[in-house]
Amino acid sequence: MNDQYHDFTLTRSPPKVTVSSCLLGENVRYDGHNKRNNIIIGTLAENLDVLPVCPEMGIGLGVPRPPIQLVQYINKIRAVGVLDKSHDVTLQLEQYATRFLDRHPDLCGAILTSKSPSCGLNSTKLYTQEGTLLNQQVSGIFVQKISDTHPGLPIVNDDNLVSTQSRVVFILRVYAYARLMQAINAENSAVALYELHLCYFPLVLSMSETKTMMLDKIIREIMIEFTQERLNRYRLLFGQIMQLSIHRHHLADFVSMTIKQQMGMGNTGSMEPISDALQHYSKGQYEWSALLASLEGITGNIDKRREKAFIAGHWLVPVTG
Ligand code: SF4
Repeated sequence: MNDQYHDFTLTRSPPKVTVSSCLLGENVRYDGHNKRNNIIIGTLAENLDVLPVCPEMGIGLGVPRPPIQLVQYINKIRAVGVLDKSHDVTLQLEQYATRFLDRHPDLCGAILTSKSPSCGLNSTKLYTQEGTLLNQQVSGIFVQKISDTHPGLPIVNDDNLVSTQSRVVFILRVYAYARLMQAINAENSAVALYELHLCYFPLVLSMSETKTMMLDKIIREIMIEFTQERLNRYRLLFGQIMQLSIHRHHLADFVSMTIKQQMGMGNTGSMEPISDALQHYSKGQYEWSALLASLEGITGNIDKRREKAFIAGHWLVPVTG
């Protein structure tokens, strides 16, 4: 496949990502305020199709409203009123999450407010019925439901998107998930999955050799005979790998191997300036935007169609800030 051009642009672009409404500046918090986050708004506007969500408003709680919290009951965490524990909205929040997912089958990610009893991912306080703090890393009812229903869906808290690098990684995960869904829904899923596999192989290999070998085995089985069971295994494992930590050197390896694959640049001479730029990035001397600018300059004389696929082909997205 070395000299073959893989067009991995999305048919629907950009991917749809839901965002807590309070992060977008809407005054929907229990106290009538918001948690506007200009960095997230800026990054999102550039790269994603933003879908606001406020689960507590969605189930009919108004503004202002009595605050709720997570409380541990026998075998079940419930969202109940801080002052009135008989005010239990657990079921409504779960049902709202199910309806929300049904309405948006094309959802490819979520950015939700940390520490919220509805939206917070692994960051919310959990109390006993007597009011003693049990745990501070529990997930809110809405986010728990969507992550249970869609394993592998990229979900992140607002306070995990502070650095440019974290936003690059999140957007990369969202685009990978979008492409996975696109491949699964393609007319010829086996071929589409195989193309996806080749595209992301360098990245997943640099993150986990063992898991990538397992993934490779599944794609070979799929190419021999496509079955739903094999597809489900591939989808699950791909999602698990993409949730592993992605560091700068993983991305640098990914870019390097992909350039070699897609650009057909076999000789080390032409790779040298690219390797230098990637090393700067790997060591933290370049931000992502500087790396892209540098690569654009280096690859400027290469076949325009391939350059477009490489630079603007959606897996290398320009994240600034
Ligand atoms: S954290 Fe979630 S439920 Fe709470 S106000 Fe923000 S969007 Fe609404």
